[in-house]
Amino acid sequence: MSHDPARAAIADFDAIGLGPLRLEDLVDREAMRGMVASFEKVFGVPVRIVSTSGVTLASSVNEFPICALVNEEPAGRRACSTVVSEVKRLRLVPQAGTTHACFTGARYRVMPIEYERGAIGRAILGPYLPPSVEEVPDTLLSVDDRIDPARAAELLPRMPRIDERTVEQVANHLVSVLDVILWSGHKALLTSKMHIASMRESYRELVEKTTALEEAYERQQELDKLKSNFLATISHELRTPLTSILGYSEMLAGGLAGPMAGPQLDFVQIIQAKSDQLLKLIMSLLDLSKLESGTVMMRRADVAIGAVLTEAASTLAPTAAKKGVALSVDAPADLPFVLGDPERLRQVFLNLAENALKFTPASGSVHLVARVVATPQDGADADEPGLVLLAPLRQMVEIRVSDTGIGIPEEERAKVFDPFYQVDQSPTREHGGTGLGLSIVKRLVEAHHGTVSIEGNAPSGAVFVVRLPASRPSAPPSRGAISVRFA
Ligand code: ADP
Repeated sequence: MSHDPARAAIADFDAIGLGPLRLEDLVDREAMRGMVASFEKVFGVPVRIVSTSGVTLASSVNEFPICALVNEEPAGRRACSTVVSEVKRLRLVPQAGTTHACFTGARYRVMPIEYERGAIGRAILGPYLPPSVEEVPDTLLSVDDRIDPARAAELLPRMPRIDERTVEQVANHLVSVLDVILWSGHKALLTSKMHIASMRESYRELVEKTTALEEAYERQQELDKLKSNFLATISHELRTPLTSILGYSEMLAGGLAGPMAGPQLDFVQIIQAKSDQLLKLIMSLLDLSKLESGTVMMRRADVAIGAVLTEAASTLAPTAAKKGVALSVDAPADLPFVLGDPERLRQVFLNLAENALKFTPASGSVHLVARVVATPQDGADADEPGLVLLAPLRQMVEIRVSDTGIGIPEEERAKVFDPFYQVDQSPTREHGGTGLGLSIVKRLVEAHHGTVSIEGNAPSGAVFVVRLPASRPSAPPSRGAISVRFA
């Protein structure tokens, strides 16, 4: 067969560690059986394909009547199996066939099956009777004297009679057909093994990358913990002297160290205001670091969200009135309780309402509205209709803090929950703040197994949607509906 690149690739088979070639791996046994059956039908000679390890892969050999006669006697059976094993073990010269004679007068033609210059099996044609054998040979009768010569003479001619030249031509033809079968079988085997090898390699790479990622993730978590601890320590250490600065500036401004007036009082009041701002920042940092390291202690109680919203709104009512922004709270009477820490939940809604007020100009409005909604249980996607139908629903209390202010562009909505992120990062920023409020809000809501997201408010403004699991599936004892308007 001529050399081509595909063959060269096949020659690399062993080089990529896929093991030595075996006839049984290269051929499809069913196809091989079909081929030997058709050879016998067309050329009248039985064919058997045997691998080097002695496995018969296909055979069209049936027991001929003369063989059945010989096999009736124990000595005959022994002689017959000796011939069969001789044929299977016969030493073969590369690329050359050989003929082996049976004591019955029949012959076997044995051809090596070679591939890539190595023998991987043999094709055995026979038994057949050469034309020269006209009588029952003595070798047959002498095997066992119980074999009836007349019966042997009657049965021997029923063996296919073929001349040596024809047998040789058939054998050569068989070897050429086998060569083609092996070639295509080898190609298929190589393709599938290469596929497996490449899958294995990809898998190995994937495992390596996953391990590296896991290690990086663990390291990241360690660093995160270190950072949180560092923040907690620093914040704590800063808070103590700052509280003193604040206390002393308050005393100075209050005239406890003698009367203060004019620029002196102004300066002390600035010190007081800035210290207050700094203290708030430090308290936020402390809060965030505790939330990040999971060291926040939280109470668990039935919280009436309507009351929490009213409290947050009344705290901000003076600011809203001063700014000329309408502030309102609405909650239905049958709103279920939320299981959580009332102080932390108050902090969440105070922060959201404070932001809403901060980013809403005069004559705008800020609404805090609560209602109960049913959402699919964890793991079910609300956007997939089939899942929603099958998924168990759970009751959530939804709080929407909406304003008519400057709004948050869609592409910024996920980022504003990151610590220190502010949409307006210019030095001339109109609104103050630290950029920590929302990251604390998100962590607090998640600590209550809830979610927080942002929507747009038409025609302008933002809506913060907080969902918290209801603590009781049924409605709590009836309280009045809340509908409060401030300013
Ligand atoms: P801070 O308000 O102290 O800057 P936050 O974490 O509370 O920090 O908010 C982060 C940023 O998100 C704000 O700087 C602002 O850009 C944006 N933001 C928050 N709430 C609103 C809102 N109601 N309307 C418009 N922008 C908002």
